[in-house]
Amino acid sequence: MSSEAEALALDAADPGHRELFDIPPVHERRYPEVAYFAGNSLGLRPKATRTELLEDLDSWAALGVEGHLEGERPWLPYHELLTAPAARLVGALPSETVVMNSLTVNLHLLMVSFYRPTASRYRIVIEDSAFPSDSYAVQSQARFHGYDDAVVRLKPRPGEDCLRTADVVEQLGDDVALVLLGGVNYLTGELMDIPAITTAGQSAGAVVGWDLAHAVGNVPLALHEWGVDFAAWCSYKYLNAGPGSLAGAFVHERHLASGLPRFEGWWSTDAATRFEMTPYSRPPQSADAWQVSNPPIFSMSPVRTSLEIFDRVGITALRERSLRLTSYLEALLDVPIITPTDPARRGAQLSLRISGALTAGAVAKRLRFEYGVIADTREPDVLRLAPVPLYSTYHDCWRAASALAEVIAG
Ligand SMILES: *Cc1c(COP(=O)(O)O)cnc(C)c1O
Repeated sequence: MSSEAEALALDAADPGHRELFDIPPVHERRYPEVAYFAGNSLGLRPKATRTELLEDLDSWAALGVEGHLEGERPWLPYHELLTAPAARLVGALPSETVVMNSLTVNLHLLMVSFYRPTASRYRIVIEDSAFPSDSYAVQSQARFHGYDDAVVRLKPRPGEDCLRTADVVEQLGDDVALVLLGGVNYLTGELMDIPAITTAGQSAGAVVGWDLAHAVGNVPLALHEWGVDFAAWCSYKYLNAGPGSLAGAFVHERHLASGLPRFEGWWSTDAATRFEMTPYSRPPQSADAWQVSNPPIFSMSPVRTSLEIFDRVGITALRERSLRLTSYLEALLDVPIITPTDPARRGAQLSLRISGALTAGAVAKRLRFEYGVIADTREPDVLRLAPVPLYSTYHDCWRAASALAEVIAG
């Protein structure tokens, strides 16, 4: 195994942006800070978030209702500050992008528009290992339209952990109305071939949407160019915007003026005429039309701060560092890995299969309490480690791998 000194030398040569983040402290250990590998679940807090959130909070104290129009960042157009940087991050036009609500809510609002089943075409294709919220969302949408047997769950081939593109494409019959997959699978860390599956699904006559919860801020995306119909993502994983923070939504340009049905509220109407308070909405030809309510400013603030970091660092540079860091961690580990070995087919996460005397949960507990290494587990036997290129270090990887080796050796 690479030595601690080698890890420290790599950190000196390839430092990342750890200084921008608050790293949780750890007590009674050799090291002052945790080795944090759960950024795919909840990203760490940027230091600027606290300052900038307090500024927004103080506008309320200083201005009261006038804060809607006055102050450094007035609240009425606040969400527009997030649109352009969010669009850049997912490879979309600003008119195709909006930050609003939470992820599963956005999936529902988008399915209202994009899941339009008929008696002959009503199936929804998802991965068998979809995040449970997505499974519940598609099942409830199908039932809402009166279909009990609509959901097709894609399983990897026997003996394999990840789906091949061909396994997805083969299932796209003429009864499929909607394909809704995770861009990066939350369990295995597999990066799907988003452009190929999008094209195949659309050729089969289906609408293709993507859940980018584990993809955004992790891998470069080009939603507009790939022709994706719609997508949604959350901002508390790789986007570091805080627990339960606001989500994003994407609607491809070609659908913006097509009169799709939609659930609306006063934020769906054109901002210029919103306060005319007319009984009929006049939605703009942009993803803003999918908004319903006026947004929670103090949740938007951390999203704005975070997106500024991504703008400054750039997802291309981050992805390059991510490839180096993840490969380094992979080389140190001596445990079966279910994530694809091809770096082009994965993001920043390695999912390990834990067998032997200790369960994955017991291993994660010992890593945390005896070594200050924060990993997470998914039932029954998967331990997930995400070296996040913004703030994780080579030394973190070395700590995780050597702690894991000691724990497994007993
Ligand atoms: C994290 C995650 C969610 C969480 O949904 P919320 O609506 O934000 O609670 C949903 N789907 C996927 C694929 C996720 O990774």
